[in-house]
Amino acid sequence: MWGTPGTGARSIRPYQSSGQYLYAMKEDLAEWLKELYDLDIDVGTFLEVLETGAVLCSHANHVTQAAGEFARACPEVARQLQLPSAGVTCNLTAQPGTFQARDNVSNFIQWCRKEMGIKDVLMFETEDLVLRKNEKNFVLCLLELARHGSRFGMRAPTLVQMEEEIEEELRQELELPAPEPNLPRGPRRAPRDLQNLDQMVQHLVSRCTCPVQFPMIKVSEGKYRVGDSDSLIFVRILREHVMVRVGGGWDTLEHYLDKHDPCRCAALSPEQHPQTCCVFCWISGHFRY
Ligand SMILES: [Zn+2]
Repeated sequence: MWGTPGTGARSIRPYQSSGQYLYAMKEDLAEWLKELYDLDIDVGTFLEVLETGAVLCSHANHVTQAAGEFARACPEVARQLQLPSAGVTCNLTAQPGTFQARDNVSNFIQWCRKEMGIKDVLMFETEDLVLRKNEKNFVLCLLELARHGSRFGMRAPTLVQMEEEIEEELRQELELPAPEPNLPRGPRRAPRDLQNLDQMVQHLVSRCTCPVQFPMIKVSEGKYRVGDSDSLIFVRILREHVMVRVGGGWDTLEHYLDKHDPCRCAALSPEQHPQTCCVFCWISGHFRY
């Protein structure tokens, strides 16, 4: 059960916040697939729609086709990228949990590895999806695949577009040249609404009960200096979530504060820390299961 009697609401929050980034990612990927393929999919039906592997294999074939078109249009840039040259075989009528579903998912996994060059640390296994053993692995792989596709002009999920915006901001700040000039990008999201962002950030920070409020100081739009260190973090709004860019991934600001703001960390026992670790710690193996 949640917390222990008498510890108040604060001890509950870490449990609740730990799954939020996964929810936000699934929501974003569902919307992206819906727009790409006119699918009837949302965050609630995400796994249900994808678990037979049919949509995934069709997506792999669509990505392969888009890569071929890109290579013909921009041969110079294409030479610098790993582009898929072969698609996958797919059983479109596979039913959930069947051998055919496993076969589809296994084909998709092989394709991600071989044709797209996705790193093992970001891969999932057939059972992770078919038996829903680890949806996090699956979600992170799908997001990584979308990052790769975006490099050759495919429409990207909002999270990936935000990553590219942040990379661009950093590049301009450091006065670095753009790495791939004339690289065509997929359709971009509308100009971002950062107006409410600072209000949302201040609202989450204001829950701090430390004697001196945990510092989170706005440096520029969407960029903050946090804690006692000189750490800078980028923050963005994704639908109703306030997201923080951490390492190679994303976390929700609420969960980030649960791990960094002393008054909130204190609510976690040492045993609870690993389970509520951020996606970056998870990717880089800094967790202790
Ligand atoms: Zn605090």
